[in-house]
Order: sequence, then structure tokens, then C-alpha cells
Amino acid sequence: MKIYNTLTRQKEEFVPIEEGKVRMYVCGPTVYNLIHIGNARPMIVFDTFRRYLEYKGYDVNYVSNFTDVDDKIIKKAMEEGVDASEISTRYIAECKKDMESMQVLPATRHPLATEEIGGMIEMISALIEKGYAYAAADGTVYYRTSRFADYGKLSHKNLEDLQAGHRDIKVTGELKEEPFDFVLWKPKKEGEPFWESPWGQGRPGWHIECSVMSKKYLGETIDIHAGGEDLIFPHHENEIAQSEAASGREFARYWMHNGFLNIDNQKMSKSLGNFFTVREISEKYDLQVLRFFMLSAHYRSPLNFSAQLMESAKNGLERIITAAEALKRFSDARKAAGEMTDEEQKLYQASEAYQKKFESAMEDDCNTADAVSAVFELVKFINTNASADNSSQFLQKLHDRLALLCGVLGIVTEKEEEMLDSFIEQLIQERQEARKQKDFARADQIRDELAAKGIVLKDTREGVAWKRA
Ligand code: AMP
Ligand code: ZN
Repeated sequence: MKIYNTLTRQKEEFVPIEEGKVRMYVCGPTVYNLIHIGNARPMIVFDTFRRYLEYKGYDVNYVSNFTDVDDKIIKKAMEEGVDASEISTRYIAECKKDMESMQVLPATRHPLATEEIGGMIEMISALIEKGYAYAAADGTVYYRTSRFADYGKLSHKNLEDLQAGHRDIKVTGELKEEPFDFVLWKPKKEGEPFWESPWGQGRPGWHIECSVMSKKYLGETIDIHAGGEDLIFPHHENEIAQSEAASGREFARYWMHNGFLNIDNQKMSKSLGNFFTVREISEKYDLQVLRFFMLSAHYRSPLNFSAQLMESAKNGLERIITAAEALKRFSDARKAAGEMTDEEQKLYQASEAYQKKFESAMEDDCNTADAVSAVFELVKFINTNASADNSSQFLQKLHDRLALLCGVLGIVTEKEEEMLDSFIEQLIQERQEARKQKDFARADQIRDELAAKGIVLKDTREGVAWKRA
């Protein structure tokens, strides 16, 4: 399988560090509002990539954080006159609802920055000790970019050029040595959340959280680090500088970045105000349509959001679901009627070509656009070759093939129940993990979440059993 690696600017064969396992980190959203459909793009495309890795048999440890301490969260908390944690807790819950509606599987773990402060203080201390960081007189700790020889390797920027261009614009009041030195720890301001540290009360910078959470949950060197292309510089460049200086090892082997979702050919962003929230879209469309729309383009291409493209995604999706339903209906009507004929065997074998085509597309840097085309070809094949006159085995097998490929794309062709099973099992696994980490609050929260959906858990000696109440 080939992945386009931002680090080397070319497609490379994917070789995991450990055979059969993938450690992957995807930068998650800052939670101060409902997520917009631009934020949904990395969630959907990297969830699809993860599903394909799992389809190939990899055991994927997929970690995606929530940034729950940040200027924007604090500002919103002040506006509402509540604690910052109330804002972040609210929007994490809302984000998880949107993710579920978009069929984005829960990550193996969703760490929160505010729960990892100890690890951040440790890493910052190590960086100071090694000369890669310094504390200024006001309690701010900065990263000394000039000390890290590889600075710029991901974004392909040359630090000397960057520095030269910025030498004159030193912001008054800042105590950094060089303009590109960035904040690892900042002193508290009145009314802001803060933590104790060797440099006084304060809070961490944004970049350090991902370095620390990635290391804690995936190890010092991971296979894949991903996010939107706006994160290449400075966020991911700074993560590399922090992590590699602290550990002396390579941080991530493959860097994947999604292109931007635009609107009227302009970048969709909260600051420009030209965005739709996922929730708004859900009032008009099933969010599977949004997912399908995103997957109809290559993840690295810019994608323009328009009503017309959403309508065409809706129609395409309907075509697929109609074919799947027809197969089910025909086969249900013929439950007792047996095995495939020789002719059907041949046809079924011929349909494998579409699965192969799907796989080749996904093997080529997760080309979901071509994978979707392969699914459409399979649908056309089904519409031409399957009818109520076929054997139930043939119908069932074609149905399974279609559902399997749709499952990789996160498109549900089945009645709701079957898809929900996988969500339930993911959540149970996450709860077990939380218990192992002694995060009982999270474990209870998951149990309650499931209970609200009528799922009852029972701890048995063999593990957790569940049933619908
Ligand atoms: P933020 O909450 O701004 O840190 O963004 C969370 C994730 O969404 C990051 O991976 C961003 O790169 C990504 N993102 C934000 N806006 C867009 C957009 N318009 N198109 C694609 N990805 C985006
Ligand atoms: Zn990050």
C-alpha cells in the first residue's frame, strides 16, 4: 500500500514499525463550538483509512485528541460566565454525537489535553535540560528552534530564511530569543484555568499536547500522524521539534494531510465565518450523505462544498442502498431456495474484479474517489445480473460483497441494528481500556451512554456481555 508522505513529498510503500500493527495519531478539534464540516473532513477521511487498514487485517491503535484548553475556549467561557471545562465538556459531547451520525468510529482513545498536564511538564523539563527550551523571566517557556537542526523538514521551510524575514518584527513585550521560538508553557492570566509548574502557575501551549499524548498512548515513534494541511506549519513542524529533541528518535514515519474543504472556492473556517456546522447539514441530509460527498474526492484535493454536489452524493448513495436492499429483498423472498448454480458461480467470481479494483484504489494513497467508482461499477453489475430468479446464496453473497466495501467507506447499507453492534462493541472496548487506565469516570460515562440507548452490560468472567433491554 502506498501513502503520500508530506515529509518526503512522495508516495511511499507503507511499512509498519511492527508487523500487523498500526499506530496512528490524528489531531482532533478544539472544542469551543459545534464542529463545522471542514473539521469533519479529516475525521471522515482518516476514519475511512483506518477502516481500510482494519479490512487489511491490521490491528490499528487510533488516537485522536480533543484540545480542551485554548484561548478560544476560555473566551467563550468568559462570554457565558462559566468554567472553561463546562464549554469543553459540552462540545466534546456534541462532537461525539456528530461523529456517530457521520459513522466515524470512536478512536481507540480520545485523550484530553487537560488530563495530560503532568506529561507535558515532564517533556518541557526534559527539553530545558537538553538546551532545547528556555524559561523567560515572565514564566513563559519557549522552544529554541535554532537548536533543532531539522526544523522545517516537514513543511520544507528553511529556518534561516524564515528567521531572516522576521528578524525585524520582534513583538514588543515578548521575551523570546528568536521570532520562531514558540510557546511551550504560558503564565496564567486573571480568570484563566491554570496548573502548577516549575515555571509558576500557567497552562501549556497547543503543540506540546499532541507530542505528549502521542508518546503516551502510541510510543516514541509512531507509524502515521495525520491532520488537515493547515497543521503542517507550524503545528506539526513544532510537534516534530519537541518530540524528536526530547526522545532523540524519529517521531512519526508517515505524515498524511487532507486538503481543505472550501466554500465558493474559499477556505471554510470559523474565523472567516463562511462555514456550515455538521449539525446544520444534518437538518437537511442524513449525515451519510455528507460522508459520501467527502469520499467522492481524493483526500488531498481541495473540495468545494455545494448544494449541487451534495445532491449528487445523495443520489449516488441512494443508488447503492437501493441495490443492497433489492438483493436483501430478493434473497429473503427465496430463503429456502438453495445454492448457487454454475452460472452464478461464474458471475460471482466475475464480481470479484470490482472488489480488486476497490482495493487497488485504496492501496494507492487512499484514493476513495476511485474506490467509490468501483462500488458504482459493482452496483451496475448487480442491477444487471441479479433478480428474484437467482438463488438466495448468490444474492446473499453479492450483498455481502457490496456491504463489505461499503463498510470500509463507512456507508451503512444494512438495517440500523447491525451497524450499531459494531459501535456498541467499540464503546465496550473503550470502556475496558478506561477501566484499565483507572479512568472510572469515563468508564461510567460509557456505560450510561449505552444504557441510554437501551444496551445493558454485564461483566462476566469471560469478559463483558451485552444485550438490548
Ligand atoms: P481545529 O479545531 O481548527 O484545530 O481543526 C481540527 C481539524 O480540522 C484540523 O485537522 C484542521 O486541519 C481541520 N480543518 C479545519 N478546517 C478545515 C477545512 N475547511 N477543511 C479541511 N480540514 C479542516
Ligand atoms: Zn496536534
